[in-house]
Amino acid sequence: MSTTVFSQLDRSLHEHLANLVRLSATADPDTAAELARSELPRVVTALKTLLDEHTPDEHGRCPTCRTRRFSRRLPSPCRAYLGAQLALTVSAETPGLNRHVRTPV
Ligand SMILES: [Zn+2]
Repeated sequence: MSTTVFSQLDRSLHEHLANLVRLSATADPDTAAELARSELPRVVTALKTLLDEHTPDEHGRCPTCRTRRFSRRLPSPCRAYLGAQLALTVSAETPGLNRHVRTPV
């Protein structure tokens, strides 16, 4: 099976994110604080970069996700935008829920 450059990038990105999650849960408080200081702004920047492409217009439509044919009649809520919103607000408001939400079914 051949590996493309993109799939390698994708895998290393996912490994990096998994590492951050693992370290934030298991590292000692000093390391966790350092990790948050150095990595959190980068993660926020990455998220903002993605969301910039999915910012809804005044009708709630996403310029990146909307389909040409139905875009005039059906305002399509952007799944990327909603997903990010949900992930951030759910974990911020109910920290205890986080573990259950992320448990694989
Ligand atoms: Zn979108």
